Amino acid sequence: MAKAAAREGIALAPASAYRDFATQCGIWNEKWLGERTLLDRRGRPVEGLKLSERARVAAILVWSAAPGASRHHWGTDLDVYDRAAVPRGYRVRLVPEEYAPGGPFARLNGWLAKNAWKFGFYRPYRKDRGGVSPEPWHLSHAPTAALYSRRLRPATLRKAIESAEIEGKRALLRALPQLYVRYVRNVEAPPRRISRRARAP
Ligand SMILES: [Zn+2]
Repeated sequence: MAKAAAREGIALAPASAYRDFATQCGIWNEKWLGERTLLDRRGRPVEGLKLSERARVAAILVWSAAPGASRHHWGTDLDVYDRAAVPRGYRVRLVPEEYAPGGPFARLNGWLAKNAWKFGFYRPYRKDRGGVSPEPWHLSHAPTAALYSRRLRPATLRKAIESAEIEGKRALLRALPQLYVRYVRNVEAPPRRISRRARAP
């Protein structure tokens, strides 16, 4: 896919790929403790420490998955940007403006919409479905991701969270049933044309 993109002058590069449970847990804890910026759906900073525990869980989930619930755990999903579209040293922020018309990655966005499926990839968070905010940069390899998606059950997630050192664990566990429906299962289904072409390894 990177080769095909390069022919159009797009340097497809990963901003983030596989992320393990401990790393996701670190992100979660930093956001919970106010050590990492918390953003609302429109990308504006939120003062998380002023929120109730329940509201803080909800605020984190807008942009970060709960530990154990990230598709980045599967090794099938990654966030991409166009290295050729920005100056050297540019710090990718992964915000909607970068991928919107006029943004540096607008062309990549259009290219992915047209071509990603040919390589087995699609974007599970393309549209706002009231769960995870739209993430035009997030690619999922549909045939392999399906294998993991089928195996992820609420009980598995609960067990992982219960046994980890997670800030706000009580509130998170309480929110788990709704969270599972709204953020884990509430993703776009892969387009049909993918399944005809790409196969799971
Ligand atoms: Zn992602």
